[in-house]
Amino acid sequence: MIDLRSDTVTKPTPEMRHAMANAEVGDDVYQEDPTVNRLEERAAEVSGKEAAIFVPSGCMGNTIALKMHTVHGQEFICESRAHVLNYELAMAAWFTGCLARPLYADRGVLTWDIIKTGVKAFSPHNSPTALVEIENTHNVAGGTVYTKANIDDICDNAHALKLKVHMDGARVFNASAACGLPVKQIVEKVDSVMFCLSKGLGAPVGSMLAGARDAIDQARLYRKRLGGGMRQAGVLAAAGLIALESSPAKLPLDHENAKRIGAALAELPGVTVTQPETNIVFFDVAGTGRTAAEVVDAFKAEGVLMIAMGPTAIRAVTHFDVSRADCDKAMDIVGRVLGKPVFAISAN
Ligand SMILES: *Cc1c(COP(=O)(O)O)cnc(C)c1O
Repeated sequence: MIDLRSDTVTKPTPEMRHAMANAEVGDDVYQEDPTVNRLEERAAEVSGKEAAIFVPSGCMGNTIALKMHTVHGQEFICESRAHVLNYELAMAAWFTGCLARPLYADRGVLTWDIIKTGVKAFSPHNSPTALVEIENTHNVAGGTVYTKANIDDICDNAHALKLKVHMDGARVFNASAACGLPVKQIVEKVDSVMFCLSKGLGAPVGSMLAGARDAIDQARLYRKRLGGGMRQAGVLAAAGLIALESSPAKLPLDHENAKRIGAALAELPGVTVTQPETNIVFFDVAGTGRTAAEVVDAFKAEGVLMIAMGPTAIRAVTHFDVSRADCDKAMDIVGRVLGKPVFAISAN
């Protein structure tokens, strides 16, 4: 099986497994796990923030961030296809007690011009806006990337109104590889950033939430409430440290593979493809007369896994457990399934 469903399917490397087996550990609820402490320090350095906390999942990192920047009854602004709104089981409402104010943006990339239309000041009729949430890269919009100038502009304007900015940077290292800036610069002005170790970076479990020290101290309490206080978590952090140090350099290859997939799909009859900016390729099969579910099942029968993301939309994600050869093979199969016209090799 060539698994292009998600970069979450990456398995820990032999180096990670070795480090996990040999990790120095302690009780992390007492902040006595030296490996977790090292990971949190490194994550803070890499993101240029005062502190960071290791959380079991990206969802928990986002949940804690929304909670620490808001109080019940406020609103936060996000893009209408945001992960926090659509894929986190209404956690923002359930735990944070806030209302999402979704705004649509082309490519999923919000700008201050769009955001300002949703900002509400305090009045007897309004629940005031407390937070702006931006997703970089934006998953469902196709792995799209914010420019630093745009992020800085959003932050400057938000901060002038005393709003906080949280970045769902599940794939911020992909954004970094695409725009050529270190993560630290990309997130320079945001109040907090969550990033996943368990996606393209390849760790088995875990995400980081980074921000100001006070906020992260508070985050530690919310993590405990949510059942995310882990004990000898150093065995996981050991893999996370390797993911953080050595995986970002591998991401450009994933992006090249995604481009190859995008180019191959563009050749197919009835297929429209959004050319990828990073490691996520979205394409639409409406023109083939088949549904995404049918097409995905047909791919699966031939050994290629992708995800149907709508009636006719399909997502393919590249990652370090699929090689260039795997991607080319997958595209041969996809071409066959979707009835690519066969050009006969010269019969003369
Ligand atoms: C994957 C993802 C998350 C968090 O996912 P977990 O599975 O909880 O680690 C958050 N935001 C985005 C954009 C994601 O793609």
